[in-house]
Amino acid sequence: MDTDAIRDPVDKLKAIQNDDVEDQDEYDDFDDDDEEEEHEPITLGFIDKPKNQWSLCRQFFPSKAGGVPAWLDPLNIPSGKSSACDICGEPLQFLLQVYAPTEKETAFHRMLLVFMCPSMKCLLRDQHEQWKRHPENPSRSVKVFRCQLPLVNPFYSPECPQYNDSHKPAGSGAALCDWCGTWKGDKFCSSCRQARYCSEKHQVMSWRSGHKIACQQMKISSPVSGPKKNGTTSLESQKVGSKTLWPEFEITIEDESEYNRDISEENTLANSLISRNRTDDTMNSLLDSFKGDDDKKSWASFQERIANAPEQVLRYYRNTNAKPIWPVSSGRPSNADIPRCSSCSGPMCCEFQILPQLLYYFGIDNEVDSLDWASMVVYACEASCDTTLPYTREFAWVQLYSPSTTI
Ligand SMILES: [Zn+2]
Ligand SMILES: [Zn+2]
Ligand SMILES: [Zn+2]
Ligand SMILES: [Zn+2]
Repeated sequence: MDTDAIRDPVDKLKAIQNDDVEDQDEYDDFDDDDEEEEHEPITLGFIDKPKNQWSLCRQFFPSKAGGVPAWLDPLNIPSGKSSACDICGEPLQFLLQVYAPTEKETAFHRMLLVFMCPSMKCLLRDQHEQWKRHPENPSRSVKVFRCQLPLVNPFYSPECPQYNDSHKPAGSGAALCDWCGTWKGDKFCSSCRQARYCSEKHQVMSWRSGHKIACQQMKISSPVSGPKKNGTTSLESQKVGSKTLWPEFEITIEDESEYNRDISEENTLANSLISRNRTDDTMNSLLDSFKGDDDKKSWASFQERIANAPEQVLRYYRNTNAKPIWPVSSGRPSNADIPRCSSCSGPMCCEFQILPQLLYYFGIDNEVDSLDWASMVVYACEASCDTTLPYTREFAWVQLYSPSTTI
């Protein structure tokens, strides 16, 4: 796919904005007196191909989607059951991460990472779990982790990172799975004792896709070597065998207020790839399938809201009064559906929303059993509490277009 074609509308839009920056004041003064609360401008996230691959490494604290995660704490990453889909048991796939530090000293660096099982079957079953109010051990196919670090920590220099290729992190990270590059690789190939995997599943996949041959060569080149190193690595360019990771992008942010203008005469956005391929086509058929007027109304106002910046994949809400926008009215959570923080029992707040546009950038087909969602909203501990765990579980609410569809 030609990503330039996608970038184009956004670049053009930026150019438009730069032309009349003065206009901006009228949006900054935007008061919610007459407007509904939900119209408070927020921060939007867009997908972009990184100019330099190194800029997505963990020492640059990237917000990114697809590829492998940039673990903030690279040593104590979740493992065991935490790293697997609770429904099918397979390792979860990295969806995206958002760097969102707070004022708190202990959250000088703060990262939220979202993982999900790529199976739509699992996501459909995940719905049942999601709707159970506060089960003790929820079985989820979508998991969110929060990691935070103070300015002075073992992994990164307290100095502002130099933004270049030669800047390396202070501490090394755990050695990762040779197949997914995502989770800890603490299981070894029993034959070469060198290839590392997070799970049997990934070992088998690696074996089938070529390790069978590579393994022999590894044995010949270093016949008596045991497991390499001591389970950590400072190598930042992780080699990944899997071809099924979602494509890697940088997430760049823009203020929604900059898009808050009447652009209906601008055909640029109306003609954008997203609205053509992902939105309009699907939408007309979807609209027909909506039974209630509520869903139709929701859909219309959702479309209207994102029309100003249809390429947005992320809406960031923390510290605003804005609320997530739901494409359909059914399948929204009520306040009682949002659990308390698993760690401090305090309230959770809406941190960000992931739009289904992301699936388009990931090249996921619009087929019947393809992965799809209407909206995914991540709720995180309002206090960003400090816990003994390096990675604290947060909560994701997934809204599907037809939540009644079951398997
Ligand atoms: Zn699964
Ligand atoms: Zn793996
Ligand atoms: Zn091997
Ligand atoms: Zn908490």
